[in-house]
Amino acid sequence: MIFTRSNVAPETDYNKYKEPLRKDFKYRCAYCLRLEDQFGGHANGEIDHFCPQAIDPTKKTEYNNCYWTCHECNNKKWHHWPKPWQSAKGFRFIDPCVEDFDKHMDYMAKSGALNALTAAARYTIWKIRLNRPELRFHRRRQWDISEEINILRQMILSGDLSDLEVEETQRRIHLLNPFINPPIFRRVPRAPMDK
Ligand SMILES: [Zn+2]
Repeated sequence: MIFTRSNVAPETDYNKYKEPLRKDFKYRCAYCLRLEDQFGGHANGEIDHFCPQAIDPTKKTEYNNCYWTCHECNNKKWHHWPKPWQSAKGFRFIDPCVEDFDKHMDYMAKSGALNALTAAARYTIWKIRLNRPELRFHRRRQWDISEEINILRQMILSGDLSDLEVEETQRRIHLLNPFINPPIFRRVPRAPMDK
């Protein structure tokens, strides 16, 4: 998932960007990708400066430097920014408005833990603590729900269900779909260790 931005008129108070940011970030945290209602609602959302104010104060009111995040991710990211020796090794924050996180990380089905494939992913996961327990739990639950949807679809395809059962099964899939759509992070089941 790569977020795209609308054209928003510059403001002197970045807090005025809240509503366009929520919309541009599809009501998700830019980093953990949870929906607002999965992190306690928009009241628990905050505006993060991708390049921290401490590093470049001139970007404080730049719309393109403001990201919609959950309180926890914003708090963990704080004013961290790679030092020159870290940048030289490829350590940096992955920008979700430029690159898909999926190119840098995948996750283990059972543990829900993100697995870094690049130096940028190692830095991003480390600094934002993207493997904190509540996020691993969230990913595990998403995985379980997607597995259940697969089973329900197979039941329908089997032809063993009555018309009424098919209807009920479709309704169940319809109810479950919002929890996995759009799917967050690339899921890579790893056998046999992760089974
Ligand atoms: Zn978050």
